[in-house]
Amino acid sequence: MPLIIASGLLIALVYTTFVYTDFKKGLWDKDIRGRLLEILITKKTKLEKALYSRIYYTKSIAAYVSLHPDVTNTEYDNLAAELIRQDPVISSMALSKNCVIGAIYPVKGHEAAIGLDLLNHPKRREIVEKTIETHKTFVAGPVELVEGGMAFISYTPIFDKANHQSERFWGVTDIVIHKDLLLNEARLKEQEFGFIFALRGMNGSGDTGETFFGNDSVFRHDPVVVDVELPYGSWALAAIPSEGWGTYNDQDQILFVILVISSLIISILTFLFVRAMIKIRMNEQELKAIFRSMSSLIIEFDRDGTYVKIAPTNHSLLFRNEEEMLNKTVYEIFDEPTARFFHDSIIKCLDSKALVVIEYPLSINHEERWFTARISWKSDLTVIYQTYDITDQKKIQQELAISEQRLSELNATKDKFFSIIAHDLRSPFNQILGFSTILLDEGDQISPQDQQSYISKIYDGSKQTVWLIDNLLSWSQSQRGLLVYSPSLFQLSKLVHETLILFEENAERKEISLQVNISEEMQVYADKDMLSTILRNLVSNAIKYTPQKGTITVSSSPAQDSASKTIRVVVEDNGIGIDSSFLETIFLINQKNSLPGTQNEKGTGLGLILCKELVEKHGERIWVESEKGKGSRFIFTLSAESDPQNR
Ligand code: ADP
Repeated sequence: MPLIIASGLLIALVYTTFVYTDFKKGLWDKDIRGRLLEILITKKTKLEKALYSRIYYTKSIAAYVSLHPDVTNTEYDNLAAELIRQDPVISSMALSKNCVIGAIYPVKGHEAAIGLDLLNHPKRREIVEKTIETHKTFVAGPVELVEGGMAFISYTPIFDKANHQSERFWGVTDIVIHKDLLLNEARLKEQEFGFIFALRGMNGSGDTGETFFGNDSVFRHDPVVVDVELPYGSWALAAIPSEGWGTYNDQDQILFVILVISSLIISILTFLFVRAMIKIRMNEQELKAIFRSMSSLIIEFDRDGTYVKIAPTNHSLLFRNEEEMLNKTVYEIFDEPTARFFHDSIIKCLDSKALVVIEYPLSINHEERWFTARISWKSDLTVIYQTYDITDQKKIQQELAISEQRLSELNATKDKFFSIIAHDLRSPFNQILGFSTILLDEGDQISPQDQQSYISKIYDGSKQTVWLIDNLLSWSQSQRGLLVYSPSLFQLSKLVHETLILFEENAERKEISLQVNISEEMQVYADKDMLSTILRNLVSNAIKYTPQKGTITVSSSPAQDSASKTIRVVVEDNGIGIDSSFLETIFLINQKNSLPGTQNEKGTGLGLILCKELVEKHGERIWVESEKGKGSRFIFTLSAESDPQNR
């Protein structure tokens, strides 16, 4: 393509060069020839003037003689002397009656010519006859003079008009004009003004005649020619530049070469330019394709947070259409806090000239999407803002976090299992084994009160073990997904009373008062076994963490903040309470959260975790309100109707 364009251009330019140099050459030719013609005309005029002023003498003589045919030699001499005076151009004048030279002026030096019959003279005869025939003055020559030098001889015929009615040939009068002096007077030089001159037309034969002044070759080199008019015939005065026409041809050849070289350079430059343009275009297309294939969005912002440019990348990430955003500031597009966040980041990058990376959510097409943006410094005025959609990445991260959380819980669950089996299950068995061994080995030596006390300890150990195993079983079933939620509608107060009976002995031992504040009519829709486990754990804890003479109350009330028929069950004690730092994590498995009771009762840290799981199986929630030293309130919700949602 560039080659075709450049070649086409070259052809066009070379053609134009041809036409132009040809035109220019024509102009030069015209110019030089015009100048030369002017010079030649001036010279021709001078020459004609010089010649005719001499011919005039003979014409005067002829006129006189035709009226005075009997003119004497003396008269003639006087007449000639009067006419010629001191004209150096004239060599001599002669009067030839019947073509025989009778008088000549000046006689001196020309004596030999007197008596010469012109008709008998081989060279002159022809001319004289022509003069007689044409009745015109005839300029012959140039001829060589006897006394040396070249001269023109002008013959004028004389007709006797005095004695005859019709004209009768009388003779001729002639005048010999020095050639060089005549030409000098006409200021004709062979070379002048940078031109060479030549004159031809021997005997008035014009352009075809013999050259008698200057170099004959002038006529062969396309000269400028003017005719010097003679009374009969003409001479051809020609001239050419002394250097020949070549100088001008050279000039237009140089111009031609310069123009051709220029054309070549222009064509090469055009070729390079077109090739560069095509390359730029291809690069631009390539860049555009790259931009289009990019999943990110590239924007140029200025210091005010104005959208200066938006690259043609992934426009689906734009918050609004490109036209709506261009030349607007972020404050015109986003709400104030979001716009401020963007603007601050842009300013930070401009000021620090360092890369700024931000992460933020945006709602696009009613869908929350997450973005990360890298803001890089371009100049003191603008930054390049490149942003990616990281929603999927974010989702994966969240899923990973959940899965990690789950894994950590599973790990904690496993640890808990091992720890319970290894320590918590072992210690009650040790107690049982220890006391039963004493009873077996030394039973007869032990007092009945001590025996009673040992048996009571064995009983407590066994109860604790069964309790622990029950909890462990429920929890393990729950972990394996085997715990089946089977709800029913039943009287809450009844289940609470049945549960509290189990703890009467423990409570009595610590002189703790157990109170129930639940209306008889209160019905709940729940899994009885699960609810029993929840209550047992909460009441057991309440007793464990309440000192002597405390009070534990189990109460229930409709939940005020719920539109559905939900009730709240509260297990409240006035025991040691819980440290605020512990409250957050009390229901989490991966926290070490077991403290000994007020009488150093041991725990496993499993009870509340199990409670939470079981409450959540009901689709309800459990939480704690407590202050260190002021007792605790464990609260959970339950449904009072048989078709609760969110199970
Ligand atoms: P544990 O077997 O240790 O009682 P739980 O999961 O039932 O395990 O309880 C976890 C921890 O919560 C206890 O060790 C104790 O520190 C705290 N806790 C539970 N209930 C109460 C309560 N009523 N008063 C004070 N602290 C309590």
